[in-house]
Amino acid sequence: MPETEIDGERVPYIAVGNGELTERLRDCEPCPKCGDLLPVEYGERVLADGTKVPDRQLAFVKCASCGLYLVGINGKRWPP
Ligand SMILES: [Zn+2]
Repeated sequence: MPETEIDGERVPYIAVGNGELTERLRDCEPCPKCGDLLPVEYGERVLADGTKVPDRQLAFVKCASCGLYLVGINGKRWPP
């Protein structure tokens, strides 16, 4: 995975092209490691004043056995 440097810390990143993701994200997605079907969860966006609001840009599954995995971007399944 490529990395960039932010405030002296190496941070991994992904780049997704327009139209690269086509498959619609479902309410439940499999854990990428063990395959268990899990509910999709979303994060929050922090506004300039520090307020946190729900944000559906990035979607995750939390597997009790394997950990937290990114499974969707902007309503589309990741990885494609
Ligand atoms: Zn798992």
